[in-house]
Amino acid sequence: MKFAAIIVAGGRGERAGGEIPKQYRPLLGRPVIAWSASAFAQAGAAEVVIACAPDHADLCRSATSGIPGVRIVNGGETRTASVRAALAAVGDAGFIMIHDAARPGLSPLLVQSLLATLAEGAAAAAPALALPDTLRRADASGRITEDIARDGVMRIQTPQAFRADVLRAAYGALAPDASMTDDVAVVRAHGAEAVLIEGDAKLMKITYPEDMAMLESMLGGERITCVGHGVDAHRFGEGSFVTLCGVQIPHNKGLVGHSDADAGWHALVDAILGALGQGDIGAHFPPSDPQWKGAASERFLRHAAKLVADASARIVHVDVTLLCERPKIGPYREAMRARTAEVLGLPLSRVSVKATTTERMGFLGREEGLAAQATATVDRPA
Ligand code: MG
Repeated sequence: MKFAAIIVAGGRGERAGGEIPKQYRPLLGRPVIAWSASAFAQAGAAEVVIACAPDHADLCRSATSGIPGVRIVNGGETRTASVRAALAAVGDAGFIMIHDAARPGLSPLLVQSLLATLAEGAAAAAPALALPDTLRRADASGRITEDIARDGVMRIQTPQAFRADVLRAAYGALAPDASMTDDVAVVRAHGAEAVLIEGDAKLMKITYPEDMAMLESMLGGERITCVGHGVDAHRFGEGSFVTLCGVQIPHNKGLVGHSDADAGWHALVDAILGALGQGDIGAHFPPSDPQWKGAASERFLRHAAKLVADASARIVHVDVTLLCERPKIGPYREAMRARTAEVLGLPLSRVSVKATTTERMGFLGREEGLAAQATATVDRPA
């Protein structure tokens, strides 16, 4: 029997961190949403209708380009409203599956199992897993108030599969402002029975930032920890301040450079690029290009952070060492850490900024210029 798939991608995924919503972020080099859309296409879906936030339509289109049968519609304010919108767009199909975009670990095999369950006569079917942990209720102070029998308690996943007539009738009967957490609840409210089949741990939902790394290891990607190293130096010249790690420090000299000459962040950008194996700062921001003249180095650092996210990588820790006699770094050190952590989206505990002199030796000792070294420890696909 012909089947169609709906993927609900309306959410903004803010809990999972990052600048773009989790469903469009790369997972082992492919956008999260593309994993499920491809699995449905491979399993033979006549069409895959994706309900996404209207302002994410372009992201969604580029994330799923080339996958056969994909159509994109505007989602609604709630999950239920998004399903309604997608359901209205689905053409003639005997079976309809509804899936959450944030569960990329879908296999064509699981889609086939759901179809087989419907073909055997079920009106609705969903994958589910038993709970491995003991359940207890506790009060706000952590005192256990009740043991809960977990026999028969199941965690319900998606995709959930339905006979199209049952699903459409249930949504037709649902109050216009109803908001349900899943679609089995919608058909059950309309009196239909749902059958559970064996779920899949890989169908876990991406909720928190660390879930991406866990899914990558589950989906077969080997990860490695790489340490990148960066060095930079700038000559002192005319001026009344220097900018280091995003912080302006009053001084009787300035730093000479094409951009704002922030040696600390330049070294750090090179360290991050080094950990990714993606060349150096000069290759990404050529000094010959006039658009970088006087540029705030925050742009370079934000670009490096984006490359990290694009590579499905994660910065574990960064360490910047500034080398100069003057200005004194100590009073500004915490402000530099805070700015660096803010731009990279890292907790303060994963950012180090420190300084040393060279005991008046060499070009640094003679205060001809200032230098910086940095390391970036990055967890990334092998
Ligand atoms: Mg530089």
